[in-house]
Amino acid sequence: MGRFKKVPSSLCPMKKPGDVLREILQEKGIKSVGTLSRKWPSGRDIYQELALLLLEGDGAIVELREETAESWDLNGKKVGPSKYAYVRPCFVEKFKVIVDGSEIAKRLPDYPWIIVDLTFWNRHIPKEKDKVALQLRETYAVVRRMYYPRRFAITWVNEEFKKKNKVPLEKVVSYEGSTADFLREKGINRVVLLDPNAEEVLSREDLQERAFIIGGIVDMKGDKKGTTAKIGEVLEKEGIDVLRRKIVLRGDIVGVPDRINHIAEILLRMLYGEDMEKAILAVQAPTHARWRLRKEIPKRKIRYLIDGKLYLVVEKELYDELKQWLNIRWEDFVKVLRETGMVALERRRIHHLNKISVFRFDKSGGKRVILLKRAALLCYNC
Ligand code: SAH
Repeated sequence: MGRFKKVPSSLCPMKKPGDVLREILQEKGIKSVGTLSRKWPSGRDIYQELALLLLEGDGAIVELREETAESWDLNGKKVGPSKYAYVRPCFVEKFKVIVDGSEIAKRLPDYPWIIVDLTFWNRHIPKEKDKVALQLRETYAVVRRMYYPRRFAITWVNEEFKKKNKVPLEKVVSYEGSTADFLREKGINRVVLLDPNAEEVLSREDLQERAFIIGGIVDMKGDKKGTTAKIGEVLEKEGIDVLRRKIVLRGDIVGVPDRINHIAEILLRMLYGEDMEKAILAVQAPTHARWRLRKEIPKRKIRYLIDGKLYLVVEKELYDELKQWLNIRWEDFVKVLRETGMVALERRRIHHLNKISVFRFDKSGGKRVILLKRAALLCYNC
């Protein structure tokens, strides 16, 4: 062994088609690729999009007789001429094919599977069903951008779902049978079930598993609490080992976005090695962050009884502290303060209040009492 510890490759088995395509091009000494087609991918990662086109059988990268005027290097930057270009299927036969979909497919890993389970489709009201369909469409977009649609399966697909569906089902795996049957077909007998009510937190080790299940559940009415666990019970009865795992932000699920597509993105980011907190923050909107604020701010409140009136006070500096791990803006902080009837004061003012007050125990754990009328002014101008 050398001086440097090698990171075991099993720690990051994830590879997306775009990476594989870049790898193949690099091996063949190709530094940039142009196009003879107007259908040329755009977006954040054109090689991912290009690889998906090739995998869908839509054209190939070929060697030209004359160079194109421009091309894109492997980082997606526009550069000068190239002898290699993407062509549509009708032109493929006219040129020498350099890379096609089958070459990429051969190098893609068979796992992990990302599965959305629709067992509880019929427990939803029509509006919720529309949301499930919408979130699945978003999940497809996430899987397309970050992974590989052919490793995305939707199980328990039914006729009504198909009508509402917005996912190109031919590009993913649409499975009308049970999740257990799907897993057996793939030779998988242990899965991770992502469940906000699980006891255990999703760990690095769990990320080595071959399939991850997200419940196709949307809960607008609040009547589906604990439903995800039932997906696990059914699988266990079918003889499949289920690792129920939750995703938490600093120990709590509050503040973790619970949409199917957001959970899929957090999971994928973690599969690529990102840590849980960073992955959550990448998808957390201020609305989700405010859920958590409503819990965090009151933890730090100090109660003052000033001239007979009760004030709930937190340090203004708490905002900077919470901003480190919640996607909040000052207006979110202020909004939650208003909702909970609190005020924020600078730390040095709080010190001052503490100096001129006395602590008294009461049923709520105690408060600081200030008899001076003018102290109330301190709380108003913040
Ligand atoms: N009301 C449902 C949750 C629906 S959220 C329940 O109580 O079981 C939709 C899906 O997203 C869940 O089935 C689960 O797979 C996933 N999910 C949402 N939040 C999660 C979290 N914090 N940790 C793990 N999975 C989560």
